[in-house]
Formats: sequence, C-alpha cells, structure tokens
Amino acid sequence: MSTTQISTDRLEAITSTILQPTAAAGVQGRTGRFEEVIAGLTSLITRHRPSGAEVLRFPPVMSRALLEKSGYLKSFPHLLGVVSSMTGTEAKIRALVEGRAAEQEWVDALAATDLVLTPAACYQVYPIVAARGDVPITGVIVDVESYCFRRETSAELGRMQAFRMREYVCIGAPETAVAFRESWKGKAQQLANQLGLPFTLLPASDPFFGRAGKLMAVNQVEQALKFELLVPVNSDEAPTACMSFNYHQDHFGTTWGLRTDGGAVAHTACAAFGLDRLTIALFATHGLDFEAWPLTVREALGI
Ligand code: AMP
Ligand code: ZN
Repeated sequence: MSTTQISTDRLEAITSTILQPTAAAGVQGRTGRFEEVIAGLTSLITRHRPSGAEVLRFPPVMSRALLEKSGYLKSFPHLLGVVSSMTGTEAKIRALVEGRAAEQEWVDALAATDLVLTPAACYQVYPIVAARGDVPITGVIVDVESYCFRRETSAELGRMQAFRMREYVCIGAPETAVAFRESWKGKAQQLANQLGLPFTLLPASDPFFGRAGKLMAVNQVEQALKFELLVPVNSDEAPTACMSFNYHQDHFGTTWGLRTDGGAVAHTACAAFGLDRLTIALFATHGLDFEAWPLTVREALGI
C-alpha cells in the first residue's frame, strides 16, 4: 500500500480535465484520454476472459419487474433510479411541456415505466440463463458489461451516478462458484500489479438500506461473501473499491429457479471491474501524462 497521498492538484486535474464535469453531480463526460485508458483496460480484461465465457452487452436500462424480483428494492431502494415518462393525450402532454398547466410542474405528471436504470451488470444475466433450463455441471460463465446507475449522494472523485461495470459471472455448483470467486481474487491482484496500482484486498459489505441493512452488512462480512480490491484515490485512509468479488450463495439461484443438471439449486458468484474507477485510479497513481507512466503499464494497456 502506498503511503504517499495523491496530491490535491492531481485529483483536481482529473476531476476537471481528464473528466468533463456537467451540471449534474456525479455525471461526467469522458475525455479522449480517459477513453483511451478505458479501451486499454477493456482489452486487458478481455485477455483474461475465462475460456468458454459467453459475451453479453446491455444498454443501461432493464426490466423493472426483473429487478424487483431480484430483491433489489429490499436491499438498495435508496440507490435505484426509475425511468419515468409522460402519459396521456397529446393535448395533455403538450399543455404540460408548454407550461400551460400552470398548477402542475411537468415532472408531477410523470409515471414510472416498466424500466429501471440498471444498478449492476450481473442482474440481467440470471433470468436469461435460468430461462434456458438446467445449468451444465461444469457451470456457466458470462462476460457482461453495462452502464450502471446508482443514486449516489456523495460527489467524491470516483463515486459516480453513472459508470461502466464489466463482470465475469459464474453460475454452477456451490464449489464451482466459490472456486471461481477465489480464483478471481488472485487474478485481480495480478491485474492490479500489471497496472502498477497500489492496492489492498479486503472483506467488504454492500451499502444495504436502513437499520436492518446494517445487520445484513455485518453478516456479509462475517460470511466473507464480498471482497474488494481497493486503491488509494482520494486518500490512503479511505481507498476506493475498483474491483469486487462476490459470492451470492443460492440467492439468485433460488430467486430464478437456477438448477444444476443434478437438480440442486445453483450458486452464483461474480468478479466486477469498475472501469471508470480503475481509470481514475490509474490517472491518480501515475499522473496525467501517459509519457510519465511506467512502460509496463503502458504496454499492458496498449497506450
Ligand atoms: P459493487 O456491485 O458495489 O461491488 O460494484 C462493482 C464495482 O463497480 C465496484 O468494485 C466499483 O469499482 C464499481 N462501482 C460501484 N459503485 C460505483 C460508483 N458509484 N461509481 C463508480 N464506480 C462504481
Ligand atoms: Zn455482480
């Protein structure tokens, strides 16, 4: 772990020149330099893709019904974003948008649609695999990516409302899912070393909602269900989670009726890469100028 605090100047430059701030907190434009690193990371992660993995890419929205069934509203209602639209006759909609319905702000007329903003890439995968029937005994691995949305309230660098999440997802027997998760804890450390990133890998918990959520978070740590690879960005004391490694036990298997071909409920695990966070961590660690980055890192990223 680095003991050198990253300079405030560098953090400020990432916030305002490597990224393009917008009127909305936590929503940034990505500059060409930023996207060059994203592209390099994308192909580096692809080079580590488990053999036989199926590739799926998704738009940033998903079915509201599927997300509800996943249990998201019980655990993270405070982070969810829902797609709303205007309904009604043409006259009603026109009156609203043209400001003629003086009593009512047009936003009051919005109604939730059947879509939500995807909060994590892997939620899309489980119902799709479940619909195909039994999971082969060797398990199924999916390479998934989606833009994700979370209604984050802090505006610290790296805590975005909209960000890209790449994941390798494993569905199979309990020992298959556990072995997958364990192997990715190891491979991720190799990746971080290749990228020259100082890191720690620690047990972690999700930001569950409310008082009951605190208990769930404690339980998650006690059962070692989640680990994060953290890199100092804003401070050494509170490093930023750039990758996470989750074992969901039978949660999604039971929810979606995922079974192995022996008939048992399948277990699931995922290795998640926060592409935007990793990119920010690279600029924070190595500086703003590619020329000054270690050659090995530039080679790994093809930049
Ligand atoms: P999680 O499902 O919270 O484990 O998230 C998976 C990965 O997505 C994390 O390891 C982060 O790298 C990334 N991530 C999560 N939340 C954010 C956020 N608000 N902004 C940017 N990246 C995020
Ligand atoms: Zn996941």
